[in-house]
Amino acid sequence: MAPAIRGRFAPSPSGRMHLGNLFAALLAWLDVRSLGGEMLLRMEDLDPDRCRQSYLDQLADDLVWLGLDWDLGWQPGDREYCQSSRTEHYRAAFDHLAAQGLVYPCFCTRKELLAASAPHASDGARVYSGRCRGLSQAEREALLAGGRSPAWRIRVPAETISFTDGNFGPQSQQLDRDCGDFILRRSDGVYAYQLAVTADDGAMGVTRVVRGQDLLSSTPRQIWLLKQLGYPVPAYCHLPLLRSPDGRRLSKRDRDLDMGYLRAHTTPEKLVGFLACAAGLLPRPQAVTPYELVGEFSWAKVGRADRVITEEAWQAL
Ligand code: GLU
Repeated sequence: MAPAIRGRFAPSPSGRMHLGNLFAALLAWLDVRSLGGEMLLRMEDLDPDRCRQSYLDQLADDLVWLGLDWDLGWQPGDREYCQSSRTEHYRAAFDHLAAQGLVYPCFCTRKELLAASAPHASDGARVYSGRCRGLSQAEREALLAGGRSPAWRIRVPAETISFTDGNFGPQSQQLDRDCGDFILRRSDGVYAYQLAVTADDGAMGVTRVVRGQDLLSSTPRQIWLLKQLGYPVPAYCHLPLLRSPDGRRLSKRDRDLDMGYLRAHTTPEKLVGFLACAAGLLPRPQAVTPYELVGEFSWAKVGRADRVITEEAWQAL
């Protein structure tokens, strides 16, 4: 039986982790440890163009260096918690949705998508117009015969999904208007993030999802998909983003802030203290281990405001 509380960290091993990933890893870990729950590590390495085995090993090594641990999930040599080896599971989820008549092929090119989608979802993403939804069987077959390989989309209903985020409070999205029919499987056959993450959170018994605010707007469609797949819905808590002083979100492009640089220039305890201070859990940076912070953790301290990480601040690490 799944335990009462199970959290997860689900990184995409497409390069070395940076401060933003570490912030998410530490806070997801603290959230679940402060509740006495289990932590799971899942490698989201679905995209063969971006992910490499060496990144997975490095990522896990970096988490251990930081002082984080996990009760189940990825271990060296174990492929069970790698999305790249779970294709059969995604295929079953896809087939289950297709059997309900919810899935259709989309032949739109990138150019057609830009021309035929409304550029206004709440997060600025484009809402698909539904152009290929109404194609007849004969039209689909003609396009397939012409050599076009389609992506596969799910037809969303005119349903409003509401939930209360553990940090950002009440949220609501009308799926057809704010999200639109979204992709389950890319035209190259790779299952899409939205399908894989829900099929996995459901199957792995995850009860708490803690991650960056950039995924807040994906949550309603994930809740809806979980329900279509017959899984319970976890609690969601989103984290404020780390930004550089010019307003950019810290990303893997900020080479200097990746784990290669950080491990060469500081200690795990100093880095954890720096992240905890940025999270609002400590008044000032001090050397500390993740376990020493468990009693300090609360969502009220974390709050919603983006954090600006100045160069002076991290240079002092
Ligand atoms: N793999 C995703 C990422 O690294 C996160 C997925 C999630 O937490 O839902 O951005």
